[in-house]
Amino acid sequence: MTKRIMETIKTRFAPSPTGHLHVGGARTALFNFLIARQAGGTFLLRIEDTDRSRHDESAIAKICEDLRWLGIEWDEGIEVGGPNGPYRQSERLDIYRRYLRRLLDEGRAYYAFDTAEELDAMRERSRAETGGFRYPRPERFAGEEEAERARAEGRPVVARIRCPDTDVTVADESFGEITIPAGEQEDFIIQKADGYPTFYLANVVDDELMGVNFVCRGQEFLDQTWRQAVLREALGFREPRLLHLPLIMDRHGRKLSKRDGDVDVHAFRRAGYLPEALVNFIALLGWRPGGDREKFTPAELVQEFKTERLSKANARFDREKLLSFNTDALAAAGEDRLLAALKDYLSLHSTPIPAGDDALLRAVLRACRGIRTFADLVAKCEVLFGPDDAFQYDPQAVAKVLEKGAGYETLAELRPRLAATDWTAEALEALLEAYGVEKGLKMGKIAQPLRVAVTGSTVSPSIYETLVFLGKEKTLVRISRCLAERSAG
Ligand code: GLU
Repeated sequence: MTKRIMETIKTRFAPSPTGHLHVGGARTALFNFLIARQAGGTFLLRIEDTDRSRHDESAIAKICEDLRWLGIEWDEGIEVGGPNGPYRQSERLDIYRRYLRRLLDEGRAYYAFDTAEELDAMRERSRAETGGFRYPRPERFAGEEEAERARAEGRPVVARIRCPDTDVTVADESFGEITIPAGEQEDFIIQKADGYPTFYLANVVDDELMGVNFVCRGQEFLDQTWRQAVLREALGFREPRLLHLPLIMDRHGRKLSKRDGDVDVHAFRRAGYLPEALVNFIALLGWRPGGDREKFTPAELVQEFKTERLSKANARFDREKLLSFNTDALAAAGEDRLLAALKDYLSLHSTPIPAGDDALLRAVLRACRGIRTFADLVAKCEVLFGPDDAFQYDPQAVAKVLEKGAGYETLAELRPRLAATDWTAEALEALLEAYGVEKGLKMGKIAQPLRVAVTGSTVSPSIYETLVFLGKEKTLVRISRCLAERSAG
């Protein structure tokens, strides 16, 4: 224990590459990052790709990209390198084979050749007789030659660990001690028939060789942590500190899944969220900072995060709350930050908004204060930058704003006056106000018909900003189009 306290903390995130980073994985990565940063330790990123059936090669780059977007940088591992590489398990097969060899030689592991059908039959028989099933350890362990023969016969040759005949206890810093009685431990597989190690073996070998001394991961791994303890003991490895994070549920109390909307980090990026809002929100999935405070910048998280304040209770993924965090973060961000984030957002989408024109984007951002996500900004503004004949007129807006009352007449009268004015927000404001006084009309009765005429809808930035973004020529073309559609319709 004393030694452990003296040691510098080394944490890791060890995802299996199956796609973009899930928010659950992002939380595990974030907490490991925070624990390491806070302790002046090291945070490592390792790719656990020994399950070839679920493998997606492109996922590795995606996970790295998602982590970097969130601002979670790793000190050692895939893409950045370090003294303990390679950091991809599929490139470390020789290492796992060496450890397996040792276990086989010492009689701590053994070969098994059962086919899937044989295992099913064993399972059924045993369940009928005893109500349960545990793989029956053979009296005598097969040697290399027998294994070779079995392989030649086309049988699946796996290696199983021989569990100890004693209870195994693991001590989790959040969930406490968990004991698996000797009678409930099964000799589980540590090398599969395809020659790849199972997750259990590769995971403990790498944690040991890479110097990881603090394992923080999702609660879904808690039930099988004893298996890693068994392997560590058999291999003479050190026990790391263990900390499991509570499950993340959706608003119906079910395990978070795509059913309820997007759950991967990239989808939130594409949906127009700021990474700092997502990170703040994710940090609260299982961590209770105490008091009323909920808002933390990434730097404040490094300061304030405490593993002692992690909850055992399931966390709830509340999308409304995330949206409100994002709305607040957008309102609080400085313009340079917003500009960079908006450009990132636009780079992922095809919109007519000119993503290279910084001055224009700054004006658009100012005109769109109060948005919840960048998707709101695009919804509000893209029509202003698209072709004049491509947008549709919303029939409801037309009925309410143009057909009821004097909307069309107002447009017809305003058109020549707009054609004759200077095109600045001030000049436009003066023109519309003078027109209102002359006709005894409130501003809404002037601005709304104009807005519908030039955007097709009742949602856009202020009327002056809308008209300035459009420019005189496009404004006049659109008013003409609107009036023409009325005569045609
Ligand atoms: N490779 C595991 C996963 O996909 C990680 C397990 C661990 O963190 O120990 O989540």
